[in-house]
Amino acid sequence: MCPFPDVTDKLPAEMKRKEPAGLPELSEAEIVRHYVRLSQMNHGVDLGPYLLGSCTMKYNPKINETIARFPKFVNIHPKQPDATVQGSLELLYRLQEALKAISGFDATSLHPAAGAHGEFTALKVFKAYHKKNGQGQRTEIIIPDSAHGTNPASSILAGFSTLEIISGEDGLIDIEALKGALSDKTAGIMITNPNTIGVFEKDIVEICKLVHEAGGLVYLDGANLNGIMGVVLPSEMGFDVMHANLHKTFASPHGGGGPGSGAIMVTKELEPFLPAPVVKYDEAKDYYYQEYDLPDAIDAVHSYYGNFGVCLRALAYIYRLGGDGIREACENAVLNANYLMHRFLELDGIEVPRAEGVPRKHEFIASPVPLKEETGISAMEIAKAMLDYQIHCPTVYFPLIVPEALMVEPTEIESKISLDYVADVMAEIVRIAREDPEKLHKAPFRTAISKVDDVTANRSPVLSWKMMED
Ligand SMILES: *Cc1c(COP(=O)(O)O)cnc(C)c1O
Repeated sequence: MCPFPDVTDKLPAEMKRKEPAGLPELSEAEIVRHYVRLSQMNHGVDLGPYLLGSCTMKYNPKINETIARFPKFVNIHPKQPDATVQGSLELLYRLQEALKAISGFDATSLHPAAGAHGEFTALKVFKAYHKKNGQGQRTEIIIPDSAHGTNPASSILAGFSTLEIISGEDGLIDIEALKGALSDKTAGIMITNPNTIGVFEKDIVEICKLVHEAGGLVYLDGANLNGIMGVVLPSEMGFDVMHANLHKTFASPHGGGGPGSGAIMVTKELEPFLPAPVVKYDEAKDYYYQEYDLPDAIDAVHSYYGNFGVCLRALAYIYRLGGDGIREACENAVLNANYLMHRFLELDGIEVPRAEGVPRKHEFIASPVPLKEETGISAMEIAKAMLDYQIHCPTVYFPLIVPEALMVEPTEIESKISLDYVADVMAEIVRIAREDPEKLHKAPFRTAISKVDDVTANRSPVLSWKMMED
């Protein structure tokens, strides 16, 4: 007999539905078609090139998803005793070790849930370090004008003030400007290397030395790790801490604010300040455990040990490629960016300003300023037009130091055929800009929704949808 008796008869009449719930009744086939179609109305990295610079939108191997969904990972509880989750702790420990090997640093925290969160966590570590050393007056973070917007935002949230320094003509840090900014108030500097125009800061060793001599610490915004991983060790450039966007560099689906991981790696000097718990290994007992007893640790920034599923995907990706594969991925990403940059430079009306002629790392900034002056077509209109060719547009209007910026990052996953296609599309858009600019003002045409009003979408987003309108 059914153990759950039907109680609808016992419900008071006024609580009962007058009419059946207005749910659509659809067959499985109809539902599958509906969702497959919806998935194709949006552009994803599984559908075509995704040039969104700084975001490293690379292919996310499906095996990562399979592994992250293993029931033995999905069904554990963070409060389980360490003895019952040895395998999961071992994987977190191995990821810490892998990130140490790739970065050259001494210790890792997997807690931060995004790059920006890694910045915030590291800045809290800076604060604790200075306080411990009787340097509590160090309240200022220096940030180049080419930095990602999260850098100043994280600094302010962590209780610092910020001091912006202007980049040199070549887009690199201006050493004299840096010297002028350093003082006994300097807590540290945040540097992106390769920087946001895709160029390696050639004076990085000297820059780190100057900041250290002034008593400050040096933070590496490691979002661009794809351009140097396996080739150089960030620790050897002189940085004290870095974050890696595991969801970018190490292939987890991201965007739209979903779960990420902004793991930070630090030197021995900063290790005591990492948030608890840190996953440790007792070799004598062959036992993995979470160390909570860390007297100098900063306050928690995330529950337990971070976003476990993203950590699993990152480890699967790193192990699948191995040390040589990581280096090869980086080299191919750099080769692809430089090839595409040269094809863009063949186009009349498109420039790649700042550090002209200097090879890029994993990305480059194209600027259609001459084309805009001639035809009125802006970076945004070029970006929108690309969608009609099944290409996700580059990042636009960032970094701010390049006018009409189109920040292009093809990543290592694109073939030469695919890169040539992108370049040919760009050439066609440039041609249309001259022949029929009106058309580009209205593009895209082939997408599910044509030109959206970006400002309204940003300021008053509509985030819910009613199934049945009255
Ligand atoms: C993506 C990015 C960040 C922030 O990372 P999130 O994971 O999006 O918080 C910071 N700096 C740079 C250069 C980035 O590209």
